[in-house]
Amino acid sequence: MQTPQPLSEWGSGIAPTGGASTEIAPQVFRVTATNPSMMTGPGTNSYVIGSDRLIVIDPGPDDARHRRRLLEVIDGRPVEMVVVTHTHIDHAPGANPLARELGAPCGGFGEDDGFIPDVLLGEGDVVGQGDHQFEVLHTPGHASNHLCYLLSREQMLFTGDHIMEGSTVVLRPPDASLMDYLINLERLKHLSPPLRSLAPGHGRVITNPVGIIDDIEHHRAQRHDLVRSCLESAQQGSPEELVALAYPEIDAQRRTVATMSLWAHLRYLVQQGEASVEPGEQTMKSVFTLQSR
Ligand SMILES: [Zn+2]
Repeated sequence: MQTPQPLSEWGSGIAPTGGASTEIAPQVFRVTATNPSMMTGPGTNSYVIGSDRLIVIDPGPDDARHRRRLLEVIDGRPVEMVVVTHTHIDHAPGANPLARELGAPCGGFGEDDGFIPDVLLGEGDVVGQGDHQFEVLHTPGHASNHLCYLLSREQMLFTGDHIMEGSTVVLRPPDASLMDYLINLERLKHLSPPLRSLAPGHGRVITNPVGIIDDIEHHRAQRHDLVRSCLESAQQGSPEELVALAYPEIDAQRRTVATMSLWAHLRYLVQQGEASVEPGEQTMKSVFTLQSR
């Protein structure tokens, strides 16, 4: 069975490197944390937006050096809110400490993973004003508490881990949902006015949003076909059992991520009525069975 092809290069402009800050659009600064890894690519991108008053997006890990760099870029200007796209450990732990130091409120979808928001944000909310005004989009999929922030003046979407540059994002059930993910990808193609660019949580700026979303959807569809055909040949199996069939040559390092992804696809097959899953608490050992048609 063929594994899907890796995605081509998507981004443009200066590549992020840990510790660097770059102005990616007028009064939009990207500050990259020094946490590069297989999961975070070149590291987490934090963003500081505005001229006289600011919004900070995703302060990243709770790392004193990264916080110092953010404070240098902020340069004493008032921060209206520190917001997070979601509460994963590479995006949110730096938010509460930075907000405390600035005397600014923290905003996010809800309390989770140790992150405590002062302001609850959701679909349709607006944060900031003028050159730092954002519309909030609730985009569950990668994480159920995931938000994207649309900078209205640039039609630039800050995507967190909903879309990252150069690779598909990891889906970890049961919090992650492939069905929600795909719904919230597709909707981005139909925003009015259309998106002009994406500023992801990892990687460079993406200037061809619709083309990239088409690529991701195509890649996911290929993977879904692969998982469906594995279940068709095995008839039954858990994510841990089926991963060897889907990705026979996978190395130990990537095996857990691949198993998670396969699990997300199996759950989507259940939602589509093409498979069933044994009742009880859902884990990577839960057995999925092909539905006879
Ligand atoms: Zn994440």
